[in-house]
Amino acid sequence: MSLIVQKFGGTSVGSIEKIEAVADKVERFRKDGHQLVIVVSAMSGETNRLIGLAQEISASPTLREMDVLVSTGEQVTTALLSMALNKRGIPAKSYNGSQVRILTDDAHTKARIREIDDQRLRGDLDAGYVLVVAGFQGVDENGNITTLGRGGSDTTAVALAAALTADECQIYTDVDGVYTTDPRMVDGARRLDSVTFEEMLEMASMGSKVLQIRAVEFAGKYKVPLRVLHSFQDGPGTLIRVEDETDMETPTIAGIAFTRDEAKLTVLGVPDTPGVAHKILGPIGAANIEVDVIVQNVSIDGSTDFTFTVHRDEMERAKGILDRIAAELNAREVIADDKIAKVSLVGVGMRSHAGVASQMFEALADVAINIQMITTSEIKISVVIDEKFLELAVRSLHSVFELEVEPTGVVVD
Ligand code: ADP
Ligand code: ASP
Ligand code: MG
Repeated sequence: MSLIVQKFGGTSVGSIEKIEAVADKVERFRKDGHQLVIVVSAMSGETNRLIGLAQEISASPTLREMDVLVSTGEQVTTALLSMALNKRGIPAKSYNGSQVRILTDDAHTKARIREIDDQRLRGDLDAGYVLVVAGFQGVDENGNITTLGRGGSDTTAVALAAALTADECQIYTDVDGVYTTDPRMVDGARRLDSVTFEEMLEMASMGSKVLQIRAVEFAGKYKVPLRVLHSFQDGPGTLIRVEDETDMETPTIAGIAFTRDEAKLTVLGVPDTPGVAHKILGPIGAANIEVDVIVQNVSIDGSTDFTFTVHRDEMERAKGILDRIAAELNAREVIADDKIAKVSLVGVGMRSHAGVASQMFEALADVAINIQMITTSEIKISVVIDEKFLELAVRSLHSVFELEVEPTGVVVD
């Protein structure tokens, strides 16, 4: 008998029919003799609907109340799925985050899990219950409801699997695994049998929303066996695994991630003197705005341009801060641009393969796409481009790097 944590995403519990289908699936696992903890998301669209309601009241509602509001979506699906299981004669119990006691910090809307109390869950599992836990939510030490950031139910599942030392954490969703890129963007995208934690972490950080970044971090840190699978189609899915010394030759590129979530800010004509980068980015950091790609141009006549990206939602706030700094620094102008996209190639094989960057730049040049910014890490190259060329860029790169083709000569075992 094994203990399995299974997470079902929003589309998989998006209607009563689908909740019944999930219950059928859970029933099959139960018949195989497994102990089960099921983590559910809110019905698809529900979290967005709730955020929309809040925005009708206020442009900047209190984050504490936002969490009280958006956490309700998951409470609905836990109860409905438990009822569907009970109807099938399966003892099941719903739990919200504070009932489990998923203790988090108090960073409302992006809280981090600190600790999970597994006592009650273990007691109920031993008593034969299937447990249905609300994803995405926790509670801080003062009893306030918190949420874990968009896509956070993945993290709830992995964290529960770690706390309960489950045999596997299965993320059931509306695609049958992790692909070389978003299969909704590129028809020829290919499902990966496995991907390393490191690659998955980069892909998630660079925009592949199939798994939340923190879920991958958690799984890597606590060695949780993690698999992404289709909710309603059988198949092996994708295993997220540790890099293996027996990988004789890894493919150079595992996948392509992309995001439209960023915006670019440029301060034109800043004096090229020591400390300028700090004067610009210091106040941005102090305002808790995360900065991603940074570029400073070569200076001409002692002045230069300084460009960086932030999350799109933070663009206006960052622009306000920069306007003030620009005046202090005697800079010429501040430009904000939210019509950008970032495309990233990810792969551990890049470590041992030179020339990936130039091949990437050539591929983009061939389709006349201008690169605005570049950033690299050991296993990733990202470029910022005009948003309107995003699809073309992803498709071209997918084809140039032959990602639709199963790599040969790869030993994975
Ligand atoms: P859920 O509601 O089940 O959590 P998500 O919408 O969060 O589902 O994640 C699944 C979606 O992730 C897919 O429908 C797909 O469009 C998108 N996606 C982005 N990049 C990838 C990728 N590399 N592989 C698979 N799916 C991806
Ligand atoms: N319902 C939340 C969201 O839409 C959490 C999740 O689905 O993982 O972001
Ligand atoms: Mg998700």
